[in-house]
Amino acid sequence: MNDSPHLTFDLDKAGVSRGYLVVPKGADCEALSLPVCSISKGEGPRLLITGGCHGNELEGPIVARRLIKWLPEAQTCGRTIIVPELNPLALQAWTRNTPVDGKNLNRVFPGRADGSVTERIADAVSRVLLPMADTVFDLHSFSPTWDFPPAVITHPIADAELMAKTLKIAEAFKLPVTLLWEYYDTPGMFDLTAHEQGKVFICTEFGGGTVGAEDLAIYEAGVRNAFIALGLVQGEAKHPIFQRQESSQTLETLSSDILTSPARGIFEPRCSILDEVKQGDLIGLLHPMDSLSAGSIDICAPTTSIVCAIRSGLHVEADEEIVYLARPLKL
Ligand SMILES: [Zn+2]
Repeated sequence: MNDSPHLTFDLDKAGVSRGYLVVPKGADCEALSLPVCSISKGEGPRLLITGGCHGNELEGPIVARRLIKWLPEAQTCGRTIIVPELNPLALQAWTRNTPVDGKNLNRVFPGRADGSVTERIADAVSRVLLPMADTVFDLHSFSPTWDFPPAVITHPIADAELMAKTLKIAEAFKLPVTLLWEYYDTPGMFDLTAHEQGKVFICTEFGGGTVGAEDLAIYEAGVRNAFIALGLVQGEAKHPIFQRQESSQTLETLSSDILTSPARGIFEPRCSILDEVKQGDLIGLLHPMDSLSAGSIDICAPTTSIVCAIRSGLHVEADEEIVYLARPLKL
C-alpha cells in the first residue's frame, strides 16, 4: 500500500493522459482520488491549473473542464496539468471550507502529510503537482454573496522580478480587471507556497453571484488569452466583452480601501461594480434590523475611487466587509 500522495499515471507520457492524484486516508476520512488530466506536447512552458479550491465557487471547475475539451487540439507545446476539483468534499457540500475538518484549503498550504483531510490535499498538491509546473492558474470566484467583475488577482510579492512577471501574465488574460490586492497576514495561502518554489501564481476571481453562460464565456476567453501569452496555444488574444465594453484596467486595492458594515442589517447597494465615485458619494445604505425605529445608515466613499466589489445577497453582520474600492495601479 502506498501511503504517500501520488499520481496513478505517468504525466510525462506524450499526448493526453488521465488519472488521479491520490490523497492518502487519515484518521478523519478515506483516501481521495482527485481526477487529473495532463496534456503533454514536448518542450515548453509547464502549467498547472486548479479549480474548486473553495467548494462554493463553481466557475473554476466548469472552465477547467472546458479546457480539457479544447486543449488537446489547441495546445502546441509544453505541458498543462489540470485538476478541475481540488476539494471535492467542499464542492459536494457547496461550502467554502471542507465540512469534515472545517478548514479552508487556501489557508493550510503547504499542508501536512499527517494532518486532517484539507491539510493532506494541500500536501499532495505541494509535493506532487507543484514541482511539475512553472506557472499556476488557480481558478476561484469572488463569492456568491458579492458582485465582482471578472478579474485576475495578485498580492504584492517581495521579489520584484516575480512580481513583474506575475503582473504581466495576469494582464495577458485581458479580463476587465487585474487587481493588485494588498492582503497581508494570511499564512497558508497556495500562492505563498508557489512563490517559495519560484513559480508564477495567478489567481483568477471569476466574478461573484451565480454561474451564468455569458460570464463563463468571458472567463474561458480570458484563460485562452493567457495560454496564448504563455506560448502554449497559437492565436490572437481578444478582449472579452463585459458591460458592453472591451476594456481591461489594472487596479490596486489597499487594506484601507475595504469598507465594513457599521451595524448588523441589510445592505442596499447604490452603486454598481466599476462605477467611479468621488469622496462623499453614496455607495449604499445599511438598514439595521434590530429596530424599526433606527434609520438607515449611509455608506459613503471616503475617497475618489472605483467600486471594485460590492456585497449582494445575505444580510451582513457588524464589521463585515461590504465594499472593496480600488484605484488605477501606479508602479
Ligand atoms: Zn476561492
